[in-house]
Amino acid sequence: MRLILLGPPGAGKGTQAKMLKEKFKIPQISTGDILRQAVKDNTELGARAKIVMDAGQLVPDDVVIGLIKERIRQADCKAGFILDGFPRNIAQAEKLSETLIEMSLKIDKVIDLEVNAEEVVNRLTGRSTCPECGAMFHHISRPPKVSGVCDGCGGKLEQRLDDNRETIHERLKVYMESTAPLKEFYKKQGNLKMVEAKGSVEDIFSNVCKMIDV
Ligand SMILES: [Zn+2]
Repeated sequence: MRLILLGPPGAGKGTQAKMLKEKFKIPQISTGDILRQAVKDNTELGARAKIVMDAGQLVPDDVVIGLIKERIRQADCKAGFILDGFPRNIAQAEKLSETLIEMSLKIDKVIDLEVNAEEVVNRLTGRSTCPECGAMFHHISRPPKVSGVCDGCGGKLEQRLDDNRETIHERLKVYMESTAPLKEFYKKQGNLKMVEAKGSVEDIFSNVCKMIDV
């Protein structure tokens, strides 16, 4: 089962990816994680990425694709994987398609988590995370039992720093301009599945699973 998760910031891609990972026993591939790992391991691609990142520039697509390719080759991806946060634009999606064809693989489903802009702003402005264990909370949809304290480990919750309104609008704009066109791209390939990201995390997950079983 090879999946791509699409959706604007705040749609809950990370949360759904984690749940899918548990259910289908396939790894979640996030470009941020594999970049960090490659830099840490000082691989050839990691070293290239580090030079670019140290200069404050975006890591070029060919490096990211190279890392994804290396990651997909690993044994734990045999049964599939979940791409979370990649591709972000049409150029990346085209390169990803080419790479997968070379590897004789294909994406089974592209799950598009749909949520409107107003809702995104509401969700993102109330988020907090636990720096100790990575648990995520939200003041309305997933409040911690004790305000400011992690349910899981008792860590002191931190507000997400990038979650101010201006940054959110900017991220939404970038999403609408660059990433949203991917819906059309994957629709043409015939594997796009839309899920309304509304209601509880569990409700959304059950709808995601229905789309995967189709
Ligand atoms: Zn915690």
